[in-house]
Amino acid sequence: MSSLQKSGETKIEGSGMKFGADGHKEVSNRPEKMSHKEIPVNRQMEAQFKGKISHNKNELTNVRQKKSDIVEGVVKNDFTLSNEKKLDNTRDFHYVGDKEFGNELKKRDTSISEKEINLIRGFHDGKDNQSFVKDHGDTYVTSIHEKLHQKSKSELSTRLNEGITEHFAKERAGLFGDLKNIDKHGKEIPKPESDYKHDVEIVKKIEATVGKDALNAAYFDGKSDVLNGNIDKRLGKGSYNRITDALEKKDYNRASKLLDRQYRG
Ligand SMILES: [Zn+2]
Repeated sequence: MSSLQKSGETKIEGSGMKFGADGHKEVSNRPEKMSHKEIPVNRQMEAQFKGKISHNKNELTNVRQKKSDIVEGVVKNDFTLSNEKKLDNTRDFHYVGDKEFGNELKKRDTSISEKEINLIRGFHDGKDNQSFVKDHGDTYVTSIHEKLHQKSKSELSTRLNEGITEHFAKERAGLFGDLKNIDKHGKEIPKPESDYKHDVEIVKKIEATVGKDALNAAYFDGKSDVLNGNIDKRLGKGSYNRITDALEKKDYNRASKLLDRQYRG
């Protein structure tokens, strides 16, 4: 199981690194569980997440620290973390400029290309549980995504793991007020589609089939057997393996069809 996860999605085979997604166009269904939560971000901080970066060095350090605190708090408050993942990871979460980001990534994955570095907005390294996010533009979904990697105990297959991560990140970001990029003329700037868009669609179907508890157990507590058992109970023996295999191969049609099937056993 690879341990480095990056936003921007490119899997570097055998490198032990995974790339998480960003791009966030659509916002998924909002779960009741989170809907009453207070959003701990004021207008000023919202601007910081949208990429209004200070050029004053001290101020920049402060803002980055505040953002890291917020992201830690959001994930801690709104998700069902396992006890061992409740420890504070604020200092393990780094907002960095593009250059530092590239250097950090190259240090951890010597085979990575400059082109890939440009496409990646954040990554998480499972080896030391450090997360790095490029500090410009709208960093909120990427931040939640990388923080979730830090706080989850997922031993799931790569695409399922990333699909759940992105699904949860977008769900939470939706509560933030559906951040939009607004240009000087007040127009919304279209965002690139998430690289995990299709994985998220499959994860939503899984969630609709077995419920959020089974998904949470697998993702945050490492209990993939709970998810496996629930899916097989609903869709027939072997279904979980068939669905995750299809996902790994990015055969989304097959994964989708398997989930549409009703168990008649
Ligand atoms: Zn990821």
